[in-house]
Amino acid sequence: MNTASSNDNGHILIIGGGIIGMLTARELVLAGAGVTLVDQQQTGQESSWAGGGIISPLYPWRYADSVTALATWSQASYKNLSEGLADSTGIDPEWTQNGLLIIAPGDTESAIQWGKVHKQPLESISGEVISQTEPAFASTADSAIWMAGVAQIRNPRLAKALRAEIVKLGVNIMEFTQARRIIITQGKFTRLETNTGKLSADALIVCAGAWTGELLRNQPNPPEITPVRGQMILFKTDPGVISRITLEEDRYIIPRRDGRVLFGSTVEHTGFEKQTTQQALEELREIAVSRFPVLSKYPVEKHWAGLRPGSPHGIPYIGRHPEVEGLYANAGHFRNGVVLGPASAALMADLLLDREAIVPPAPYAFDATRN
Ligand SMILES: Cc1cc2nc3c(=O)[nH]c(=O)nc-3n(C[C@H](O)[C@H](O)[C@H](O)COP(=O)(O)OP(=O)(O)OC[C@H]3O[C@@H](n4cnc5c(N)ncnc54)[C@H](O)[C@@H]3O)c2cc1C
Repeated sequence: MNTASSNDNGHILIIGGGIIGMLTARELVLAGAGVTLVDQQQTGQESSWAGGGIISPLYPWRYADSVTALATWSQASYKNLSEGLADSTGIDPEWTQNGLLIIAPGDTESAIQWGKVHKQPLESISGEVISQTEPAFASTADSAIWMAGVAQIRNPRLAKALRAEIVKLGVNIMEFTQARRIIITQGKFTRLETNTGKLSADALIVCAGAWTGELLRNQPNPPEITPVRGQMILFKTDPGVISRITLEEDRYIIPRRDGRVLFGSTVEHTGFEKQTTQQALEELREIAVSRFPVLSKYPVEKHWAGLRPGSPHGIPYIGRHPEVEGLYANAGHFRNGVVLGPASAALMADLLLDREAIVPPAPYAFDATRN
């Protein structure tokens, strides 16, 4: 059995090398813990690769305050995180603040109220201003919500940069190592069985995204985390053709700096099936072109699907298992793992290391009521 080396803050084992697992590893290693991270494949290839990288929930006012609290904390830290990673690894995740335009949400009053309460820069704009804000958008809408402060990040690059950074910081990454069984003895985590052997540590954090529910299925109080497929398409346009993240009826466009444009996404409860479908490709392309006619000139370069870690109301599970000492989870971020990631990782480390928590932790507990 591989036993962890000793460190000031003990040795922590993490299952899952998506954005959540890698951000958590980074927090812990920076705090002086020894960290081993296992992933059943290469890190950063699942939902964290497939996502859009908008650093805001869609329709943020419709979420619980517990989601807003994590989002707000992360949003304040993302620019520094991105620039710091670019400096130290040479991989630039391209944090870009190009704003979020939300067309005719239907609940504008709630949005405005939420913006005031949470001090989020958010304004209601007219049809004319929509056209000025995003000239490529063929709009018939007469109002929208404009959130100028919203940024995006290239999540595949973020994952690559995080991997390089945590390796530099001393995290032991074991790829192609599948966690198979979590062994609990007398109410305490003792070891993890994997396809390549057994691992022991002072604590185990499950950050296995959509697979977290399965991994914890045999423990008491398993979290309600299930896969939710999302399909996305990518157009290769010229830089500047489309400039704003624009959302309407739950479908959004994300223009990258180099002219690549993402359009998505579907929300499908199809279990662990990660295949793309022709129907989604056609539907997404048709909606994208009807909103942005200029896209008819450009090819769809890619089409993919990812499995979001769905949870009740998108409220993640962050904290210790109520009945098992040494067993933790940081998972279930559903549609918002990128925007909630830095805060979730900081909170996870606070709880594990007994530090003052960045936000009140109760809403994210395993046994919290999620509504
Ligand atoms: C189409 C789409 C669009 C999205 N857009 C956005 C957005 O704009 N903004 C935003 O904030 N969020 C967005 N999301 C959501 C976001 O991508 C996820 O919430 C986030 O990536 C979850 O990260 P994670 O690390 O928990 O999961 P993952 O990235 O899925 O990582 C889990 C890891 O665990 C590993 N693993 C699983 N089981 C085991 C095992 N038994 N042993 C070892 N390793 C294991 C996997 O291989 C994987 O690497 C989007 C998601 C999708 C699919």
